[in-house]
Amino acid sequence: MSESIFKENLFEGKKVFITGGATGMGLGFAKAFLEHGADVIIASRKEENLTKAAAEMNSQTGKTLHWKTMDVRNNETVEEVAKHIKDTWGHLDVLVNNAAGNFVTPAAAMSENAWRAVIDIVLDGTFRVSKACYPLLRKSEEGSSIVNIIANYAWGAAPFVAHSGAAKAGVLNLTRSLALEWSNDKIRVNAMCPGVVLTDNVKKNLMLDENVVKTFESNIPAGGITNTEKMAQQVLYLCSPAASVITGDMLIADGGEWLVANNFYQVGRNFFSE
Ligand code: NAP
Repeated sequence: MSESIFKENLFEGKKVFITGGATGMGLGFAKAFLEHGADVIIASRKEENLTKAAAEMNSQTGKTLHWKTMDVRNNETVEEVAKHIKDTWGHLDVLVNNAAGNFVTPAAAMSENAWRAVIDIVLDGTFRVSKACYPLLRKSEEGSSIVNIIANYAWGAAPFVAHSGAAKAGVLNLTRSLALEWSNDKIRVNAMCPGVVLTDNVKKNLMLDENVVKTFESNIPAGGITNTEKMAQQVLYLCSPAASVITGDMLIADGGEWLVANNFYQVGRNFFSE
């Protein structure tokens, strides 16, 4: 079991759904919930990633990681997964909106399609999945929790990742709107804002070579470059009874990076300057 400050049975029998949970942080969240007793389903587009994730979790935790294919841009597939969860479990206790796409590019060079794709996955996708899961979340006996994964450029500027910044800003606002609208249903809605985590896709899509990583690291006041396990602990906390009075909030777990630097600004300026 990974190192954890939480008791092993904290989520015993709880039903958890994580979008984009086959890779990177999403898979780390799935593992953490499995290790704390939850039943977990993940859903994303690539079946090969989903089956690989399930096999990995089975060998590492001895538990079954359930999965379904789903494209958050396609409402039909989202509704299918919600129906599958309803038919299998009848309700949900936790939804983590984690699926995302992102790449570094100057706004002036960004195509309409690129802009739309990221907004569609991150902002519209979070809305679609939350709405489809709402009837399941309100059936949770002890109250349920949504955690939306955002980024630390969501409330400031997002130079060179403007599509992702606009989408994550929308998700932050949606987090607060749903927290109010769904409070009577005992659904808490919060955002978790990770620091830099060197997941495979981040290394590939965000141009994180050795020098860029050094720049990022030098701009993190506390804790250095962080990792999936630490981010999973933040998500567990937000879904735990200890956070029962927290809703419409965001937990910034980036070591204070946002206070001192906008790393994408520096990286983008260096990379794209003529
Ligand atoms: P990742 O490994 O790329 O995970 C993203 C997942 O989203 C993938 O498993 C992908 O699976 C899924 N996905 C993409 N498009 C989808 C779609 N249309 N429908 C359904 N699923 C889709 O990324 P990560 O680095 O772990 O990031 C996880 C979350 O943390 C994201 O919300 C990201 O914005 C946020 N975040 C990351 C960092 C970081 O430094 N890593 C920092 C701040 C915030 P398929 O390809 O199978 O669809």
